[in-house]
Amino acid sequence: MAANTEMKNNDNCLYGGIEGGGTKFVCAVGTGLDSIHAEARFPTTTPQETMFQAVDFFKQQEDDLGKIVSIGFACFGPLDPNPASPTYGHILPTPKPHWTGANVVGMLRSAFDIPINFDTDVNGAALGEWRWGKAQGLQTFIYLTVGTGIGGGAYVEGKLLHGLIHPEMGHIAVKHDFENDPFEGVCPFHGDCFEGLASGVAIEKRWGVRGGMLSKDHIAWELEADYIAQALASYSFMLSPQRIIVGGGVGSLPYLLPKVRQRTKELINGYIQSPVILKNIESYIVSPGLGNRSGMLGAIALAEQAFQQS
Ligand code: ZN
Repeated sequence: MAANTEMKNNDNCLYGGIEGGGTKFVCAVGTGLDSIHAEARFPTTTPQETMFQAVDFFKQQEDDLGKIVSIGFACFGPLDPNPASPTYGHILPTPKPHWTGANVVGMLRSAFDIPINFDTDVNGAALGEWRWGKAQGLQTFIYLTVGTGIGGGAYVEGKLLHGLIHPEMGHIAVKHDFENDPFEGVCPFHGDCFEGLASGVAIEKRWGVRGGMLSKDHIAWELEADYIAQALASYSFMLSPQRIIVGGGVGSLPYLLPKVRQRTKELINGYIQSPVILKNIESYIVSPGLGNRSGMLGAIALAEQAFQQS
């Protein structure tokens, strides 16, 4: 945390943030957690139209509020976040029509000659939680969203993890309980991977109604908790996170998280000898501190980081 105070004095710097989702974009300008001065949201259509709306929003805000010093762009993926790569700032092949290969950072750059920090939506949300939410002071943690799709961001030993491209935590294999769950899964690449079995889309297709319509006693939630817990146990074994934050429309259902905690503890089965798992699992698996604002505030946090490092 000391790093923040040792870096540039960034009081009152105006940052731009874009939370680029598959169905909507949220743009905001502000100086931090309690000072978001303007916010706009619009549907995700084509890259040209959507990015134009983002640029137009920031230009209007600059007229009203002054110069924006940097932009954080937390976007749905897969995407190329490596500044040294020839396809940096592009959306990688995606089933989403129009977006494959779109140079979304290039579109921003043509309008703004300021630092831009481009990362996955979930890495952005993770940074937002580190800056202002439930991951403050932590060195290694995971932010997982379980909603329409499933994705995870990882902050490891003090920085966001990218590696080869970026993690795809939704696509790990889980044990498929065929007896209780003959549903084949919805992932176009893997069928019954974690996202294929446990995303909001999978729940709706399996049961014929949206998850929110199922009663909290429905068997759907036992299955869902088991699949999420399998993933959380795997992440715990692989990355040894100090905490796992679970957000998203499905992940935020209040009756789901207690089941997930209990099942994760059962699956780990005492092998990770940490009091936080053995005695205090409520503080190991938590809801986002920033609620559904993790993504937007995460984009602002990405902008702040870009400015500090420029
Ligand atoms: Zn998959």
